[in-house]
Amino acid sequence: MISREIRLASRPKGIPNAGNFLLAQSEVRPPEEHQVMVRNLFMSVDPYMRGRMNEGKSYVPSFELGEVLDGGAVGEVIESNAGEFKPGDIVTSNYGWREYFVAAPKELHRVSPETQPLSVYLGALGMTGMTAWAGLNLVEVKAGDVIYISGAAGAVGNVAGQLAKLRGCRVIGSAGSIEKVLFLRDECGFDVAFDYKVGSVADQLTIEAPSGIDVYFDNVGGETLEAALTALREHGRIIACGGISGYNEEKPRPGPSNLFNVTTKRLTMKGLIVRDWMDRRSEFEKEVGGYFREGKLKNKETVVHGIDQAVGAFIGLFSGKNIGKMIVKLGEPPERR
Ligand code: NDP
Repeated sequence: MISREIRLASRPKGIPNAGNFLLAQSEVRPPEEHQVMVRNLFMSVDPYMRGRMNEGKSYVPSFELGEVLDGGAVGEVIESNAGEFKPGDIVTSNYGWREYFVAAPKELHRVSPETQPLSVYLGALGMTGMTAWAGLNLVEVKAGDVIYISGAAGAVGNVAGQLAKLRGCRVIGSAGSIEKVLFLRDECGFDVAFDYKVGSVADQLTIEAPSGIDVYFDNVGGETLEAALTALREHGRIIACGGISGYNEEKPRPGPSNLFNVTTKRLTMKGLIVRDWMDRRSEFEKEVGGYFREGKLKNKETVVHGIDQAVGAFIGLFSGKNIGKMIVKLGEPPERR
């Protein structure tokens, strides 16, 4: 079996470009005893992958130069020498950035083919949805809280806002275009959404939340974090989820100039790594899967087609090309049984 795959050709400096990647082919050997062959249907591109393209140790291992990348994927089992799976089963894995692969059963997670589209397992019911859910639990977001979410129209942000609304919060979001602002207000039920590119976040937060916010869900870092530190009320909480505004910086920037707010307002800032929540995956799937199947939660996605579009989709994350989860479709899903 010949599979196309994306390899890391060179380490990006600043914003990645197409030349940092190579579309190559490799032969996938048939599965051995207790192995399964999978045809990928969808793969994920995620901002955290940018950090893995740098040299040196981070909280996740760096990608190796010349090697195929990895990341979240949804696929169909097409051949199985393992009792746990049969052809036609739908599975998630960390074998993205390629069309076919062979793996051991323990590297696969079975999902229901009844829940559609199957790409939802990379979005609202996948890693990014779980990040949103985990973040709200991390700082115990509750009814009545005023929560501000940056990067709100992205994969994590829009689900965080929808879940916060279901908890009875007042939800404020910021995103980088009027189209995204309308999506947040009209489709996700945010109480307030604003475009961070048309005025300073600090000014817009002062207008939209004159008496302050209780929780800040940080996907962006930098100046946005600084604005949120000012807007937070006493005993406010920060979910430190991401800092995409700094991921392409060659030299780290100094931290927020007003960090002393943490002291004066007795704020709590908690770091979130979704992987730490894997032992609560079934709880997440039950709760958030329930909302999705009941029609209470939207799974918004931006889909590009073909592995040759995967690099462009990844780079597009850093200029806001996606609304909702950025998905790369690699193959046609099987007919529903
Ligand atoms: P998104 O779907 O939100 O895609 C990235 C978005 O970030 C873009 O659409 C763009 O939207 C916005 N963006 C890009 N550059 C900037 C910038 N300089 N300033 C402000 N916004 C910018 O990605 P995810 O939902 O997958 O991830 C969101 C954040 O959560 C990331 O920081 C990611 O690293 C983090 N994360 C953390 C996890 C954890 O375990 N801690 C797990 C998963 C994600 P716009 O048009 O609004 O600018």
